[in-house]
Amino acid sequence: MKGTYTLLLVCKRSFRTKIGKLGYVNVRKGHYLYTGSALGQGAVSLEGRLRRHREVSKKTRWHIDYFTAKRNCTVSVAVCLRSRQRLECSINHALARRLNVRPVLPRAGSSDCACQAHLVKVVSSMSDRRVLDAVIRVYEDFRQLNQFSSDTASKSRGLLPIYSRKRRERF
Ligand SMILES: [Zn+2]
Repeated sequence: MKGTYTLLLVCKRSFRTKIGKLGYVNVRKGHYLYTGSALGQGAVSLEGRLRRHREVSKKTRWHIDYFTAKRNCTVSVAVCLRSRQRLECSINHALARRLNVRPVLPRAGSSDCACQAHLVKVVSSMSDRRVLDAVIRVYEDFRQLNQFSSDTASKSRGLLPIYSRKRRERF
């Protein structure tokens, strides 16, 4: 499957990490969003990419890996839009309009585009549910064909199609 996705990360404790060549940053506890696209097959398909994001043990390759490789920072949900188009920058901008966010560091997760960052902190204090609702509304605006969210607790479980318009109340 090809598409664009936004990870909702919940960091339960503050920590300090290096983000590749961008340098060190103090990550405070709270909600973080990362928006990317996976337009290939196999490891670079949407399923392959999301599986990798949920793995804790991996070689850090992308900026987001410095977050997802931390045990106290969990990928809570991935909201996805099935598409052959690279929509990550448009969706990233739409998220910034709907939520009060700021870059973790300038250029974090956005080495290949003109966006300020694709890895951002949700500045407002909000519940997991409210952050997720805001992300889902943005994706609904993009007239998605399919949406899926991964499991809410474990990084090791597979991708579960537990979100859809009809089954929204189950989340
Ligand atoms: Zn971008």
